[in-house]
Amino acid sequence: MGPFITGAGCATRCSAVTQRFPGRELRVHDHILKHHRRQSRAVAPALITVAQARALVLSHAVALGAEPVPAQDTLDRVLARDLRAAGPVPPLAASAMDGYAVSAGGAGRMLEVVGESRAGTPAGTAVVAGTAARISTGAVIPDGAEAVIRQEDVEVVGAGRIKLRTPVASGANIRRAGEDIRAGARVLRAGALIGPAELAVAVAAGARQLLVGRRPIVSVLCTGDELRAPGEPLPPGAIHNSNGPMLAALARRCGALVEPVQLLRDDRAATETGLSAALERSEVVIVSGGVSVGPHDHVKPALADLGAQKVFWGVALQPGKPVWFGTHEGTLVFGLPGNPVSAAVTFTLFAWPALRAMLGLPGADAPAQTARLGVPVARNPGREQALRVRLERDAHGLTASPTGPQASHILSSLLGAQALALVPAGEGELPAGSEVSLQPLPL
Ligand code: AMP
Ligand code: MG
Repeated sequence: MGPFITGAGCATRCSAVTQRFPGRELRVHDHILKHHRRQSRAVAPALITVAQARALVLSHAVALGAEPVPAQDTLDRVLARDLRAAGPVPPLAASAMDGYAVSAGGAGRMLEVVGESRAGTPAGTAVVAGTAARISTGAVIPDGAEAVIRQEDVEVVGAGRIKLRTPVASGANIRRAGEDIRAGARVLRAGALIGPAELAVAVAAGARQLLVGRRPIVSVLCTGDELRAPGEPLPPGAIHNSNGPMLAALARRCGALVEPVQLLRDDRAATETGLSAALERSEVVIVSGGVSVGPHDHVKPALADLGAQKVFWGVALQPGKPVWFGTHEGTLVFGLPGNPVSAAVTFTLFAWPALRAMLGLPGADAPAQTARLGVPVARNPGREQALRVRLERDAHGLTASPTGPQASHILSSLLGAQALALVPAGEGELPAGSEVSLQPLPL
């Protein structure tokens, strides 16, 4: 509020007043009042439900194209089409043990060792009755050999001669070609998220490159004159920009390519310039703060002037009511409330499913799990609540308990939160034990 000081008989906007007496008349500075009158006429967005908002977001989020990427660089990417094995896995019949390749037969046989099959270097000679070949784990079974006997079950009786201590069944200790994966079999489905196991399977099945979903380019913009970069000293009234790093990290964790975070001053021209550049370079723009109804909230009018189409503003959600979503020439724009928890919640409920859909991940639209509330929760009559909860599993299933105070500025209760528990709007209290749906948190 700059030079203005709130004292008796004077109020800043949003009623920072000295004491609460109903019916008092207070003097508010003129330019602020003018804004407030304008806002009072234009605001009070009609709230839609979380499910409606999410469906609207998803109706605009389409999978980006696919691109070939060297298989070893595809960790956390999403496979764009089914992968079939180029050949059998393992590709050859190989030994499962260090020992001797032999013909099948009884114990006590004396055999002459005629060669060696090493991993990567097959034996030059075939095995016939009366002979054996030394063999290592993973080495090719020589022609004529029917089984492998373990080194521990063999006695070396002289130069190049062994005696078998045990009988050997046909096929013993041989890994057959294609025993793991048949040539041509589907090994991974389109939509699979590539983790270390998928990587190993794809490479073993002969893949050099994988066709994976392109990663959306995301810009994160933070509005607020009060914001300072991490670690900067704070003059009076300032706070650190915690949303910037958090939202960038969330988007990165979802698989997006994230541009460096930009700070925007609470100024119409600066907001428009920053947004315009971000819209130009990105497929998703995430703006934090400045989407509410305050005199210094410039995001919505700036977006409108830049030609963005509003899809919704206002969701019956606590925290996160003022969330704005729209599009600009195919770019998705999320205007998230500045309160840190509201930003995390609205990112999780709306931006995350959109990023998943753009990456080609299936099932972006439905909260997957339910849990029982560990404590009673006072319902909000008009809004669904998203509680930060930790989860405990017992014989009856999952129990969700709040991680701490749930106000939208209590950032520390994001720590240890495993999910958002969605408490439906309604009167009175939702008793402990009630079933609620869960939205996992990508925290
Ligand atoms: P706004 O949505 O701009 O009205 O901001 C709501 C609240 O969130 C205010 O207390 C802001 O100071 C705070 N806030 C806004 N942006 C950020 C940010 N990037 N990091 C941390 N807090 C923020
Ligand atoms: Mg602000």
